[in-house]
Amino acid sequence: MLQTQKMNDSQISNLHNSCIVVLEHWTKTLSLENGGNFPKKVTAFKKEMAVHGKYDEPCPVCNTKVQRIRYVSNETNYCPRCQTDGKVLSDRSLSRLLKKDWPKTIEALEESKPIDL
Ligand SMILES: [Zn+2]
Repeated sequence: MLQTQKMNDSQISNLHNSCIVVLEHWTKTLSLENGGNFPKKVTAFKKEMAVHGKYDEPCPVCNTKVQRIRYVSNETNYCPRCQTDGKVLSDRSLSRLLKKDWPKTIEALEESKPIDL
């Protein structure tokens, strides 16, 4: 996962084109599911989505378990191998609680014991 401020022109262009392709795909898919009209209400989670809403499930590309960043009222899901180069991102609640015990890599995460909360 590269911050847009650190991207070069080619990467920005690729991101822009990918956004258009994905948005057009989902606009078309959701419209077809709704008899040709874009639905008034759209649920955020679709089983066809790669990692969105798939915390703890395998990434369809590399099979690594999908991780999450929890916020007050929602969460972001990502693959720590495909999207963050192996880095496990801080989770607002758990990483603060665990501090130095928070796993920084996929390997450290997989070696850590499950935590019951
Ligand atoms: Zn992956």
